[in-house]
Amino acid sequence: MTMSFEKVLGQSRSKRFLQQVARTGHLPHALLFSGMEGIGKTALAFEFAKLVNCPEFDGLDACDRCASCRKADSGHHPDLLWVRSDGMFIKVDQIRELRRQTRFRPFEGRRRVIILADAQNLREEAGNALLKLLEEPPDRHLFILTVLEPQMLLPTIVSRCCHVRLQPLEDEIIRDHLVARLDIPAPVARDVTRLCGGSLERARWLTEDGRLAHWKEILETVQRLRRLSFFDLFDLTARWALKKEDLEQDLECIKLWVRDLVLCRLSDSEASTFDLDDDLRRIARNLDAEDLFFLYDMIEQALQRFRLNANRQLTVEGVCLAIKDILNGQGSRNTLS
Ligand SMILES: [Zn+2]
Repeated sequence: MTMSFEKVLGQSRSKRFLQQVARTGHLPHALLFSGMEGIGKTALAFEFAKLVNCPEFDGLDACDRCASCRKADSGHHPDLLWVRSDGMFIKVDQIRELRRQTRFRPFEGRRRVIILADAQNLREEAGNALLKLLEEPPDRHLFILTVLEPQMLLPTIVSRCCHVRLQPLEDEIIRDHLVARLDIPAPVARDVTRLCGGSLERARWLTEDGRLAHWKEILETVQRLRRLSFFDLFDLTARWALKKEDLEQDLECIKLWVRDLVLCRLSDSEASTFDLDDDLRRIARNLDAEDLFFLYDMIEQALQRFRLNANRQLTVEGVCLAIKDILNGQGSRNTLS
């Protein structure tokens, strides 16, 4: 039987650290798990919450059999609280409710564990309310926050937490999981692993609904951009922007591709996500690295703007134009804004 911590793929360094902390018995009031999407932050938080309250904890792992572990697994542990985004944000009312729930001692566990997932979605007021709670942490409580990037939180919240940085998963771990657990054919698993950037969630997503083929199509499209006339480019972006679904994921795909260009420019590493053709490798090596960083930031910002319902066509157009210019050696940092 797979033990608790083993259910979370990879992350061996973070697990070792958490086991050590648990063995000392001196837990911090708050932990912060940071790292990209789909690498197991929430799963690790949950397994650690189980471990903290498992009376059979053997120094390494929760037992998965006792009443406490079973209640947690079935979602009925009275001392395990979840705070998740309500819509796009975690709202101040949710933190007020949390404050109310943490006024009393834990019911049956040694500690009450609060898992606050995607803390980057805390609105300003909610963030401040949480900070107050962390500044005067209630007795025998453990807060576990997960976040994509610590910079997305108030620095005063980060400084109240013991920060555990999770890493993208290794290719081998993802590939083996896809083949052994999800029955994905090995050649597909290999392609997906190269494209998922270390995120198991994205790997799973890519194996569904013909998305792998779709991503390959996008890559062919962006590689073609530098040779397109402006007329064809605008035609292409107009059609692209009409797509209701997955436009954000398309941009994520392009972002990974730009990251590869950066890697190719800065090192001779072959360990890229995508197969850049020789032509593109040659081009990338001669590009201004600053231009590539600019492009990467631009895509990040485009993704944020999508979430705020920005004009999709203008956004896609801006990204595609920047790619075309930069690949053609006409850094657009100064001309486009
Ligand atoms: Zn147990």
